Amino acid sequence: MLSTSGSKMPPAGTSPLTTEAAIRTRVEVPVNLSDGSWRTAEMISFSGLADGREHIAVVFPSARSVPLVRVHSECLTGDVFGSARCDCGPQLTEVVDLFAESGGILLYLRQEGRGIGLYNKLDAYRVQDDQGLDTFAANRELNFSDDLRDYLVAAQMLRALDVPRIRLRTNNPDKVGQLRGYGIGVEEVIPTGIHRTERNHDYLRVKAEQGGHTIELLGESI
Ligand SMILES: [Zn+2]
Repeated sequence: MLSTSGSKMPPAGTSPLTTEAAIRTRVEVPVNLSDGSWRTAEMISFSGLADGREHIAVVFPSARSVPLVRVHSECLTGDVFGSARCDCGPQLTEVVDLFAESGGILLYLRQEGRGIGLYNKLDAYRVQDDQGLDTFAANRELNFSDDLRDYLVAAQMLRALDVPRIRLRTNNPDKVGQLRGYGIGVEEVIPTGIHRTERNHDYLRVKAEQGGHTIELLGESI
């Protein structure tokens, strides 16, 4: 059952132990950072992921026994083209820069548009523009729930990487609740930066008010 607030728990009977994934390929990839420098990351693919999609882990070496982890859901418009309708692009850049410096694991999940897919996300943008609806209302107008994202695959990937305990960078309590429900020990929750601009502040406000995200600018101009 999905809701607009609180955490979704895994479906009854779901056990992480019955849905094991395995590492398929590990390969080194030079990654460009925002200052123009390059760092080598290891990109890792998996077999046996529950939804059959091609999610990857991008791993920067870390000396910590409990690594920093960011679970980032794909946003083609923001990640690749720098769309100012959301804050995904700056969030991704921030975490890649940070992990390149201090180590960490980025789980890049292919669940565009809070799980509704790219085409449906563009439809929802159209509805937002035409009807003045916010991001959640537009999804509901198209008969989607507010947030279809499921983090079972993230838990599977961490387990395959032999990382049962993490420090999670997120403002989204749903990620914390789901990962814990799937058996991952989230030992610390570290908020991400807030990337507010004139064009995305309504989106961030709605994400905080309706999506339950802990975004710290509510008392200010957001
Ligand atoms: Zn986005």
